[in-house]
Order: sequence, then structure tokens, then C-alpha cells
Amino acid sequence: MAIATVNPATGETVETFTAYDGDAVEQRLALAESAFRTYRTTGFAERAVLLRRAADVLDAEQEDLARTMTVEMGKPVGAARAEVAKCAKAMRWYADRAPGMLADEHPADEDVADSGAGSVFVRYRPVGVVLAVMPWNFPLWQVVRFAAPALMAGNVGLLKHASNVPRTALALERVFRHAGFPPGCFQTLLVGSGAVEDVVRDDRVAAVTLTGSEGAGRSVGAIAGDAIKKSVLELGGSDPFLVLPSADLEGAVKWAVTARTQNNGQSCIAAKRFIVHADVYAAFTSAFADRMRALRVGDPLAEETEIGPLATAQGRTDLEELVDDAVAHGAVVECGGSRPKDLPEHLDGGWYYLPTVLSGITAAMRIHREEAFGPVATVYRVGSLEEAVAIANDTPFGLSSNVWTTDPEEQELCVRDIEAGGVFFNGMTASHPAFPFGGVKRSGYGRELSAHGIREFCNITTVWRGR
Ligand code: NAP
Repeated sequence: MAIATVNPATGETVETFTAYDGDAVEQRLALAESAFRTYRTTGFAERAVLLRRAADVLDAEQEDLARTMTVEMGKPVGAARAEVAKCAKAMRWYADRAPGMLADEHPADEDVADSGAGSVFVRYRPVGVVLAVMPWNFPLWQVVRFAAPALMAGNVGLLKHASNVPRTALALERVFRHAGFPPGCFQTLLVGSGAVEDVVRDDRVAAVTLTGSEGAGRSVGAIAGDAIKKSVLELGGSDPFLVLPSADLEGAVKWAVTARTQNNGQSCIAAKRFIVHADVYAAFTSAFADRMRALRVGDPLAEETEIGPLATAQGRTDLEELVDDAVAHGAVVECGGSRPKDLPEHLDGGWYYLPTVLSGITAAMRIHREEAFGPVATVYRVGSLEEAVAIANDTPFGLSSNVWTTDPEEQELCVRDIEAGGVFFNGMTASHPAFPFGGVKRSGYGRELSAHGIREFCNITTVWRGR
């Protein structure tokens, strides 16, 4: 895949980039290694000053960064601004909280005595150079949620970003440099996916984190395993959204639309499968389809746009194939199901797809088990909570889940039985620096954010002293 900025709103190639050759990658690896030798000796206070300055740079450059993202991957510009703000917030959060999360830990006195030690403590030390292989869908947030904790822990970062967001990738490197991080603490590698294996295997790289598709995760996870290096994988999702009879239906419909269409439907934690109790099925489905139909599709740089284009031509083709397969197997199109026909002429070359609701889903349809990465929702009708949970779990993925019920017993059953890294009641899944983020099954392993995320790339060291 060429490294290029291609505007998904128009299909126009804006800028192409030459991938770094072996020498350029080698220079950056050497710089990262030497930067780590010094940076690892800095204290939390010094790192926090740098990270807060990086947050200030994001605030100052919010508009430019937002437009850069929108032109590269098509998210509505208002959402892009919110993404920049969220990144600044997460940087400040880790600057404030990392010292507490990584403070030395002291085991209970009786355990120390039992071990025969005079004293014992646990120290969280950095592991070194961490490679981040990242996707285009939240081009700033995905990187910052890795980089902020990694840098606070004393690691240094190398970013291999998706090939369609090179401007954002380079902008991120500049943000950290402008903030005053020493050269080499955070660098972008402009390389294609074929160059990843050598970097993972390089002795100077300690660990790798990948956010992306199942295929990419399988490949990078296998290489990291073979090289005996720690990896974190944040992969795809096909999150369920259950609506049960006690739900506030108006609220459920409103959040269902947002949960399915955020980021033009291209979010790992977007709700994708809507599993609705028969008692409220008809009312929910017709209101949901009405609201999806009413969304304004168009130029993502226009403030009023709610749904922009898909990020790549291939992404739209993949989505169309999933819908066509479902319809061929008998799915009912409640709304959408095609490209928009009434967009202004200058958007003719863009990769738009109408918000779509499909019902009558069966296990014979690919969309039942594959991730729909775009604004396409499937709706299932069920007779009981048990049936709803069975469908929720009938997926290879296990990222998060959403459940609309006010019944405490139903809530407890969902927490017990839904196979996912999150269960969100009467709302929608969202990431927050304070909450662990990650999945089970083929959604990957490891966690980002919170104390769990920052400790993924720490050398958790036992320090024992004799009596
Ligand atoms: P992708 O094609 O897997 O790309 C992600 C990154 O991996 C890119 O940098 C890509 O580089 C690289 N890559 C792809 N194949 C690779 C390989 N075989 N070896 C090494 N690197 C490889 O995914 P995407 O289309 O950008 O993103 C969409 C997917 O990400 C969806 O499945 C979504 O659910 C998932 N996602 C998950 C999370 C989460 O937190 N769980 C968050 C966001 C997105 P190139 O661009 O150069 O190919």
C-alpha cells in the first residue's frame, strides 16, 4: 500500500510520501536506543512536565490537526476536534496519575517476614523501545493512548502508522519534539507493513503494541512470540447492543444511532449488532431506522455533516459486499443499503455509504460473524435475555458490549455472561483514560489505558534485601 494522503471525501491524492529505506529505519532505531539510555533515568516529574507541554501543543494546534485527520481519513471535523481535545486530556491525566500508578509497591509485612527478607518492594521500570503499529480510524487517539503512558513509564516510542495517515503520523512526531521531548523519544517510521517484521525482531526493540485488524494482529503477535517479546493486541470488534423491555426506548434509540455511526461507523467499539427483545422490537427498529435515515451524509469538512465517507475505497467495497451477501441471503433493508445518490458533484469521487439498518439476520450471512466497518447495523429479534446473550456471544470477537435494561438482576447476569472486555449499561461504550480498554477472544489481548495499560510495558521488578 502506497504511503499517501488521499482525501476520502473526493478520492483526490493530496500528497505521496517515499517510504523510509533501510538506512533511515536504522538511524531511527539507533536514535531510539540511545534516547532510551538517558530518558529512562529521568523522574516522573520531568516526564510529566514534557507530557503536559505536549498537551498544550495539541490545544494550540487543535484546528490544524483536526483538519489534517479529516482530510486523511474522512471523519467529520467536529469529531476530529474532539479527538484532539481527548488526547490532550489523556496526556494530562497520565502526567498527573502515572507517579501514583507506578510508585513502589510494598508487600504485606507478614509476607515479607515469611520470605525471610529484611525488606521487599516492587518497582515498575521501563522496558525500552516500544513499537506501536497503529490504525487510521482514530489516527491521533490510538497513538496517544499508547504514547502517553509509555513515555510516563520511561519508555521511548516508535510509531508505524497506517499508510493512509502519514501527515498525522509526522505531525505527532512534531508535537512531541515541540513539547521538548529529547530527540528519539518518539519517532515516526514512514514504512509499509512489510517492514514491521524486521523492526519487531530488532534487538533494540523491547515490545510491540498493535491496534488493527485480526490479520495484522495474528501476524505481528506471531512474530513477537517467536522473538519472545511482549505484545499487546487491540483488534476488531462486533459489539452487541441489547435492548430489553425495561429500557428507556427513546434513550436507547438515540444512543444506538451514535454508537453505530460514530467515526462514520469505523470504530472497533462501535455497536454493530442490535439485539432487541420482541416486546420492544417493532418500536425500536422503526425509530432506529428513521433516525439513521435522517443523518446528514456529506463533506466531512462541513460543520453540519454527521456522516462522512469511508476512509478507503477498499473499506467501502468490503462493506458493500457484506450488505449484498446479507440481502442475497434474505436480510431486509430497513434503510440505506446503497451509496448516496444526491451528493454535490465535487464529492462524486468520494467513498460514501448510506447509514443502513438490516433486519432478518441469520447465521448464514457473513455479517452475522464478520465486523461491519462502516455505518451498517444489523437488528435481531429475541424472546428472552438468555437468547440475547447467546447471540451477543455468537461472534469471534469480544471487545465490549452495551445493554439497555434497568433491571439489576438482568444487569448482573450480563456482567456474568457476556464475553467481552466491557459491559456498558444504558449508554454506549466509550474509552476514558481511567478505565481499562481491551478485549477477549479474537479482539486481542492486553489492556490499554488506566493503571493496567501503563503497566503492560513495565519491567515489574522485585527488589529483595536480606535481613
Ligand atoms: P489494519 O489494516 O490491520 O492496519 C492497522 C495497522 O497494521 C496499519 O499500520 C497497517 O499498516 C498495519 N498492518 C496491516 N497488516 C500488517 C501486517 N501483516 N504486518 C504488520 N503490520 C500490518 O487495520 P485498519 O484497517 O487500519 O483498522 C481497522 C481495524 O482496526 C478494525 O478491525 C478495527 O476494529 C480495528 N481497531 C481496533 C481497535 C481496538 O482498540 N481494539 C481500535 C481501532 C481499530 P498499513 O496501513 O501500511 O497496511
